[in-house]
Amino acid sequence: MGSAEPKKRIAIMGSTGSIGTQTLDVIRSHSELFEVEILTAHSNDELLIKQALEFRPNAVVICDEKKYEAVKSALSSTDIKVFAGENALEQVADFDTYDIMLAAIVGFAGLKPTLKAVNKGKMIALANKETLVVAGDIVMQTALEKRAPIIPVDSEHSAIFQCLVGEARNPIEKVILTASGGPFLGKKPNFLVNVKRDHALQHPNWSMGAKISIDSATLMNKGLEMIEAKWLFNLEPKQVEVVIHPQSIVHSLVQFEDGSLKAQMGLPDMKLPIQYALGFPGRIKNDFPRFNFRKYPTLSFEEPDYKTFRNLGLAIEALKTGGNMPCILNAANEIAVWAFLKNRIGFLDITAVVEKTMESISLIAKPTLEEYFDSDGEARNFAASLMKL
Ligand code: NAD
Ligand code: MG
Repeated sequence: MGSAEPKKRIAIMGSTGSIGTQTLDVIRSHSELFEVEILTAHSNDELLIKQALEFRPNAVVICDEKKYEAVKSALSSTDIKVFAGENALEQVADFDTYDIMLAAIVGFAGLKPTLKAVNKGKMIALANKETLVVAGDIVMQTALEKRAPIIPVDSEHSAIFQCLVGEARNPIEKVILTASGGPFLGKKPNFLVNVKRDHALQHPNWSMGAKISIDSATLMNKGLEMIEAKWLFNLEPKQVEVVIHPQSIVHSLVQFEDGSLKAQMGLPDMKLPIQYALGFPGRIKNDFPRFNFRKYPTLSFEEPDYKTFRNLGLAIEALKTGGNMPCILNAANEIAVWAFLKNRIGFLDITAVVEKTMESISLIAKPTLEEYFDSDGEARNFAASLMKL
């Protein structure tokens, strides 16, 4: 990219989170290429204010309306527009003044603003995998119609995307998503039954937000990623596989019809896929630490333990069933993970809640967007009642 090109203006949805703050790190290091147009936060007003004062966006959103006055007054000496409430996310997503939306809100809450940006034909750098898990058919169809490029930020999908550059005419035989296995790799149910939140939050290779950290410990994250891969790369369920790779160096692989496997590798650092998505189609020079094979004499691969980590099987079932089933799986999982993080249920109860909710909510084969919202609500209510929340 030549320095004469205009800076890309970035809307960061969920700027106070793990992906959001790492995106700002990337932008800070490359202020000649990028500028911040929009920042949004759920309730962390202090960090949002700090970010706004540093990056001087056009607008910020604080979803928690109780924090509006605090943000407004802290930014009163600037011309930054301040919005509050969840609806404001869609309002700013409707702005014409940004080039790329970095979708880094966690969970179902990310769907509406992302879909708004897709409808406007904006480029999406997608971290919020739940958007595709819930309504992948609608999101991808809209992206096609509106010519909105979706560049994955999830490291596995970024890896696959990078492997596919230059391969547009070559069908994919299958993709293989790598999984670290999380903090409880090799453990059995008799251990997992007693696991507490703080232990489950300790991921061996990645530092991430709370929800995805728990999803990584239960392997639900990999199941959600299988569904995400189906939609991003237009695959049949049987073309998506998972392998455990504890070192997290091979970020995923694509197998072509001649049996050739392409992999993308690198140290586990989310700034790499974030930077790739923002810079696409260019690669941006950086000084991040480089991979050194002497520090990794062995890269190993093994079959997932489906018997112990049953969430992975449930996600595969949802992937195969299709319709609103992935939406139901996701909603039940969001509520169950929230309850686990509040110490209201045990680690293995997460799976039980997801399974019972999947059995109980009616299947809709080809849901409308409204029906996805209804299924999400129904599944949440059912899961909450199971846990007596
Ligand atoms: P996080 O919890 O650290 O941050 C979430 C962000 O979303 C915060 O800015 C928060 O204020 C905002 N937010 C939360 N709930 C909201 C709501 N109801 N309405 C509006 N905003 C809300 O999460 P994270 O780890 O940064 O993950 C963000 C997304 O990226 C998730 O979908 C996750 O699966 C995906 N992802 C994360 C990583 C990672 O390394 N953290 C890797 C791959 C994919
Ligand atoms: Mg991932």
